[in-house]
Amino acid sequence: MSCVAGKTILVTGAGQGIGKALCLKLADNGATVIALSRTQNHLDELVHENCNILPVQVDLSNWQETKQALTCINNIDGLVNNAGIALNAPLLQITEEQIDRSFNINVKALINVTQTVVPKMIEKKQGSIVNVSSQASLAGLAEHTVYCGTKAAVDGLTRAMALELGEHNIRVNTVNPTVVMTAMGKQVWSNPAKGNPLKEKIPLHRFAGTNSVRSSDHADFTEEIKFVCFSLEK
Ligand code: NDP
Repeated sequence: MSCVAGKTILVTGAGQGIGKALCLKLADNGATVIALSRTQNHLDELVHENCNILPVQVDLSNWQETKQALTCINNIDGLVNNAGIALNAPLLQITEEQIDRSFNINVKALINVTQTVVPKMIEKKQGSIVNVSSQASLAGLAEHTVYCGTKAAVDGLTRAMALELGEHNIRVNTVNPTVVMTAMGKQVWSNPAKGNPLKEKIPLHRFAGTNSVRSSDHADFTEEIKFVCFSLEK
């Protein structure tokens, strides 16, 4: 983790869950963290926990406002495209609005933020981008058709970005977590009828959490956070 010290890292979806835990972890380890998220009071709570974190409030569904919010940021070493939503429904009940919102945040906004930040990385001839995908890109999950589709898209565009940006010494990776008991995770998987069969397939037979991510007890650190931090190092 010490390799992130002194680096400037932008994390999207920073107000809650994995993004919030990641911001705190990176800031604790000496990174300058720019925390982008939608809800101001979630950002206020984050800054209350670590006053060195720099908040940026913007709704990623707005293409132009997102670009404007990021133009004044000049020095970015790392980008974590973490923001995402899960609007789950059986296939026959999925609405056009759910499809549009899901692809807008999980895919289109990720491209927008990356496009805005990458020129500054190209100038420096280095950078690392981590796209937070999901097991859902690889496995079929009941009532997750649209979500699975968005995360498969994240995997695909990550491979293409890595190819294009590699020549500028910019690395692009995904992490593909299984269930983390954030607001998003709890919404589906706290129901034992849905959660228990999935837990059986996980070698540790439990879901990940984010609560103890600042603890010095490494055994309790969320594995996904460690993978993101590992990908940002170098
Ligand atoms: P949460 O719902 O707990 O947090 C998501 C964060 O993203 C929130 O802070 C939210 O803002 C922000 N966000 C959502 N929409 C927008 C938007 N339009 N503009 C700006 N910010 C926005 O999700 P998780 O922490 O669980 O998920 C983080 C990532 O990890 C997602 O990409 C998700 O798909 C992925 N993932 C999650 C898993 C899980 O089990 N939890 C498993 C695998 C992958 P606000 O504070 O306003 O809510």
